Amino acid sequence: MAYDRNNIFARILRGELPCSKVYEDEHVLAFRDINPQAPVHVILIPKGEYVSVDDFAATATAAEQAAFIRAIGRIAQQEGVAAGGYRVLANHGEAAGQEVPHFHVHLFGGHDLGPMLRRAV
Ligand code: AMP
Repeated sequence: MAYDRNNIFARILRGELPCSKVYEDEHVLAFRDINPQAPVHVILIPKGEYVSVDDFAATATAAEQAAFIRAIGRIAQQEGVAAGGYRVLANHGEAAGQEVPHFHVHLFGGHDLGPMLRRAV
C-alpha cells in the first residue's frame, strides 16, 4: 500500500485539521479518537509516513520505534489506565477494516473491554 499524503492523520500532522492532543514528542503524536469506543480511546501515530505496523517495523529508525513504544506506556500512565488495564490495537488492511492509511495504534481503557476479538469460528 502506497502512502497517501492526503489521509486524515497526515492532515492532522500538518495542522490542517484539529485534534484533541494528549501527547506529542519529536516522533509521535497522540490524540483522542473522534468516535470513542471506550472511556479512554487514544490514537497514537508516528510523525513519519508509514502505512502499517509491518512498514513501521521494517523502515522506521530505531529512535522512531523506541519513541513510539515509550509513548504508549507514558499515555497509559497519563490517562490513568495502566493499573486497571488497557488494550492496544493496530488495524491494517482490508481484513482488519483499516480506515486511515497512516500507521496508528488505538489505546483503549477505562472500563471492562470485553473479549479480545469477535469469534468467527
Ligand atoms: P482504523 O480503523 O484503525 O483505521 O481507525 C481509524 C480511527 O480514526 C477510527 O476509530 C476513527 O474514529 C478515527 N478518526 C477518524 N478521523 C479522526 C479525526 N479527525 N480525529 C480523531 N480520530 C479520527
